[in-house]
Amino acid sequence: MQEIIVPYLQCPECNGAIIISGIIEKKLINTEEFITKGLLHCNQCHTSFPVIDGIPRLLRKKELTPAELQCTEEFSAISTAGISSISTAGIIVKKEKTFNEKEKLALMEKKVRQLFRPEKAVSHSMMKRIEHDLEYRVYHSDKKEKYVETAKLYYKGDMQSILEVGGGQGGTLSCFRKYFHPRITLSIDIDPVMSEVCQIRDPFINVIRADGTNIPVKDNCIDFIITTATLEHIKEWKICLREIARISRNAFISYSPNKWFGYDWGHVDGPVIPFLPKNYSLPLLCLWHKLRGTGRDYKALKRSLSGTFYISRYNAVKELRKYGTVINVFENFLEYSIRSDYHYMGGSFKKFLLKHTLIRKIMIALLLAFKVEPMVYLFLKKKPVIQK
Ligand SMILES: [Zn+2]
Repeated sequence: MQEIIVPYLQCPECNGAIIISGIIEKKLINTEEFITKGLLHCNQCHTSFPVIDGIPRLLRKKELTPAELQCTEEFSAISTAGISSISTAGIIVKKEKTFNEKEKLALMEKKVRQLFRPEKAVSHSMMKRIEHDLEYRVYHSDKKEKYVETAKLYYKGDMQSILEVGGGQGGTLSCFRKYFHPRITLSIDIDPVMSEVCQIRDPFINVIRADGTNIPVKDNCIDFIITTATLEHIKEWKICLREIARISRNAFISYSPNKWFGYDWGHVDGPVIPFLPKNYSLPLLCLWHKLRGTGRDYKALKRSLSGTFYISRYNAVKELRKYGTVINVFENFLEYSIRSDYHYMGGSFKKFLLKHTLIRKIMIALLLAFKVEPMVYLFLKKKPVIQK
């Protein structure tokens, strides 16, 4: 993490201001310094949080892993400067090896492969599915010009700070950072492996292990927030939207699927599932996968289904209107998306849409009229905050 992000942070326990209470190790990339091992501290409730492998762990104490708690204790013992000042003596500074693009990709693939374990797949089709996801996450997830182009239509002015909720492997955020050149780039994610992958991809992204429903960032200090393919995995998604509105000035929110579209691609891959209560949809889903011979069994489907929450566009917009103006940017996004070289899914259909403008316009108009577009892309312009 870079030291410049500290004034933006707040305590996940009490919302107090965060300071650096000890630096044990730093790394140098070219001339830029990053803290890789250290201790953050809340000025109000006096809780300490570790920075491990360059990633601050800003979660409530009960949410930290035993290893993270142990690091907090160890770092506190090493950090001799006490709570109020930064230890400058005895800091280890390591010069980071710079990787070329090929080495970076190989390193990222190794990490993702260890996490996904395609060789453990129970069927060939399952293995193909995992390999497809793996390839996307390592090699294509930064091809996000379609998001940048859409955001550019609605975001005007200078961008000093950007944050992604559920930043994962960092592709989207890296693409935004390279276009807008913000001073501060933050990614909030709960998954430690994906956070490491994100840092390999783009070391100028400050990854924080934190919860999307309790973002450890101060109010109204982020110029622009993005969140993609994350909201549908947060049970308390309304709280996540409230957090996004609390800390940001503008936000680009995308999630899939729309509850009323009725087919879930990418999570459980089944029809009518988003409509139905989960108790009823699971047996139907198992039957659907059995007939198609996908190899996804009851246990795997139950896990996917229990981690996916279907949100209607109507409900998401209703929630966001509490905080500002909401613009549906599905049409703009689709126009840029069909022109992309890489498609994670629906590539041939998107090529068809690119060729047939009239069909495309009719399809977009119908989906929007019935509020059922399969992926939801919304832009939030927040009400201006009146400072006292
Ligand atoms: Zn605190």
